Amino acid sequence: MVRYVYDFHEGRRDMADLLGGKGANLAEMTRLGLPVPPGFTVSTDACRAFLATGAEPDGMSAEVSRHLSALEAGAGRRLGQRDDPLLLSVRSGARFSMPGMMETVLDIGLNDGSVLGLAKVSGSERFAWDSYRRLVQMFGSTVMGVDGALFERAMTTLKGLRDAPDDLHLDAHDLAELVEAYKQLIREETGEDFPQSPAEQLRRAILAVFASWNGERARIYRRREHIPDDLGTAVTVQRMVFGNLGADSGSGVAFTRDPATGRGGLYGDYLPNAQGEDVVAGIRNTVPLAELERLDPGSYGQLLAHMQTLERHYRDLCDIEFTIERGTLWMLQTRVGKRTAEAAFAIAAELTDEGIVSADEALSRVDGEGLARLMFPRFDAAATGEPLARGIPASPGAAVGAAVFDSTEAVRRAAAGEKVVLVRQETTPDDLPGMIAAQAVLTSRGGKTSHAAVVARGMGKVCVCGAEELTVDPAARRFTTRAGTVVAEGTVISVDGSAGAVYPGAAQLADSAVMRFLETGERSAGVVAAVARALEHADAVRRLEVRANADTPEDARRARRFGAQGIGLCRTEHMFLGERRKLVEEMILAGDDAERERALAALLPLQRQDFTDILAAMDGLPVTIRLLDPPLHEFLPDHTELAVRVAAAEARGEEPDPHQQALLEAVGRMHEENPMLGLRGVRLGLVIPGLVAMQVRAVAEAVVARTRAGGAPHAEIMVPLVGAVEELRIERAEVERVLAEVSGESGVPVHCPIGTMIELPRAALTAGRIAEEAEFFSFGTNDLTQTTWGFSRDDVEAEFFSAYLDKGVFPVSPFEAIDRDGVGRLVRIAVDEGRATRPDLTIGVCGEHGGDPGSVHFFHATGLDYVSCSPFRVPVARLEAGRAALPGGGDAGR
Ligand code: PEP
Ligand code: MG
Repeated sequence: MVRYVYDFHEGRRDMADLLGGKGANLAEMTRLGLPVPPGFTVSTDACRAFLATGAEPDGMSAEVSRHLSALEAGAGRRLGQRDDPLLLSVRSGARFSMPGMMETVLDIGLNDGSVLGLAKVSGSERFAWDSYRRLVQMFGSTVMGVDGALFERAMTTLKGLRDAPDDLHLDAHDLAELVEAYKQLIREETGEDFPQSPAEQLRRAILAVFASWNGERARIYRRREHIPDDLGTAVTVQRMVFGNLGADSGSGVAFTRDPATGRGGLYGDYLPNAQGEDVVAGIRNTVPLAELERLDPGSYGQLLAHMQTLERHYRDLCDIEFTIERGTLWMLQTRVGKRTAEAAFAIAAELTDEGIVSADEALSRVDGEGLARLMFPRFDAAATGEPLARGIPASPGAAVGAAVFDSTEAVRRAAAGEKVVLVRQETTPDDLPGMIAAQAVLTSRGGKTSHAAVVARGMGKVCVCGAEELTVDPAARRFTTRAGTVVAEGTVISVDGSAGAVYPGAAQLADSAVMRFLETGERSAGVVAAVARALEHADAVRRLEVRANADTPEDARRARRFGAQGIGLCRTEHMFLGERRKLVEEMILAGDDAERERALAALLPLQRQDFTDILAAMDGLPVTIRLLDPPLHEFLPDHTELAVRVAAAEARGEEPDPHQQALLEAVGRMHEENPMLGLRGVRLGLVIPGLVAMQVRAVAEAVVARTRAGGAPHAEIMVPLVGAVEELRIERAEVERVLAEVSGESGVPVHCPIGTMIELPRAALTAGRIAEEAEFFSFGTNDLTQTTWGFSRDDVEAEFFSAYLDKGVFPVSPFEAIDRDGVGRLVRIAVDEGRATRPDLTIGVCGEHGGDPGSVHFFHATGLDYVSCSPFRVPVARLEAGRAALPGGGDAGR
């Protein structure tokens, strides 16, 4: 029989798939002997069964009852017992942390009777009514579906009437009145009464938390974080402990190290006389954790010891939530904490130094996306001037954008291409779409652990929170600084998430220290040293080589500085643009062979110089030069423009310009309905006389020039868009002929491996044949994705991918992350069949996927020799290639 419920004593840290992160870690803390209020977890299996059928799975309710009885026996009182009620919290907890994205219901077990009992045993009427008020509010919105804003409004109205600046100024009578108002509201909105039966409260709360897995915010968050939709959430049911029992109680959140920089020491926020939810919501301003040492030295000392235990046990930065109930410390949650990219590298290096983790493990704890983030520019400190305000540096980086004051406006402007900064008093999960759309998030309230801070850090988005000097007025769409400066919606501001400052206008950006290191090799301390170590270890363990896609000497030099081991794709099309476009026009318009040859002869020395310079920049390393790929009419003027020009001249009664006329005719003749599927790639070489010969001659003469100059050129010639071995055979013969010709003429032997791109399904499916003629393969996964899916790569992403992502057709664009099942299958077939024909076949990839972290892991597992990507992605690919090679790291599977 399937089992759905597990007591905290029965779980372990490694059971997060079943118990969710929260349930598994609560169980782990229980096993470690830390003070965890007792409870049990309803598994993700139960959630998935519920979501599939819409009904509670068989046997779940009996299991819950059994575990509840055990809990009651341990506590010596029953759930909702009139004179001394046991109260429960019901919280979500998925495999991956989704902060604030799902629901929680606290104080289950209170009703009109037990609230009086709670008042008596706690000795505080106010506390009892405040707890009941929270239950009715959370249950009303989460379980019964009443708009949460209605409760907020009732609360605000009452605070206004009582002249109360915050909820602490409402007394027991006020809160009892609020409970009645809330119950009335529920009746009006749902036609149903707030349930008085504690068992019913518990049952419905568990199911509501399950259902919140599919709530809108949770779905948006999962899409953003690439969390699969079918995992479901577990639910933890736990005895309530109270941080709102007076001045000797409180709640807090803490990190064992600074999650922004990785520096050691205790970081966190504490809120006296409050429940945990109040801390995260930023309702009242918290005090730094160090303050707790003064308020309650006993609990503070215990907290320190428990956090040390946790960091040692988990061997990583942990974050925790805790509550102090009348001087007794309770641990409510822990997990390996989220951190910024900077902190991830710094912590990994530090824990290696401390001998706590191995170099391999340290490498597994950083990633390419984080490294890419550290390569972004920062504000130039000297050029920023006086800030408008300072706040808490919650998530590092620099961002510039127009201030906007709600999520909808952020999404609207961002969709129109504008860069925006979302400015709020504090954020709630409803602000998620706006946070995703914005360059940065700025709040006037809340600490390092507020919603804004936690979510922005998770997304790698710049965030300054708690900028208390700002008065944010969302209704008037503006904020005012302490000095009285008014910043209206649409005004450009700059947010420095590393320093916690906001500047007027667009501040100057400066290179990041990590970028400087990559450019110069200059190795300073701190995060730069940590990044350098991670890259060195990645280089030591990786099997995949990393090359770059580069077609200028500058790009080639940069790629080399960034650690590229050659050029995997040198596109030649840019070499046909600019001033040379005229020569290409002449080649296309040539009336006879002689004219064409003249045009090609004029192009030859220019191409030769291009290749000579690139081979010099990559001296000693392979440079894969791809023959011309795009349709030729891309090098001619636009048809409509030309037609208008010619027609206008005619209308003015001018003599028709014969060149313009000829161009217009050529453009008309070469027009294609689907140019991406038309005369391009190898097909050009087969039908345009002399083109391939000119390009190959340029390469070969460049090799000769570099050899004579004492260099070590390693040019490779790559044929694009081959679909059949016959195409390659014909093209290869031409290439070999020209290479032999140049060798003969110069007396310098020119050996260039000749290979092909695999970027059509037919090429992949006949790779065994194609390998007869190819010394190397390079997967052009851009075209391979386009042609496998039948998607136009230039059109679909803007046209309908957002709808496809919404509908869950795929979690990420297949142009970004390799589609392992479809395109990936073709890659595997081509690798296997290509190597069967030619065991020493060199195989790489040069589509955009070559720099995508997840795809790099796939290419490692598929046995490729190298990935090639844009120069800026080279460090990312090196790091990920190293991670993929770690034991258990090559997760792609075959
Ligand atoms: C590809 O198709 O993946 C490729 C690298 O070539 P291009 O993007 O130039 O078509
Ligand atoms: Mg291509």
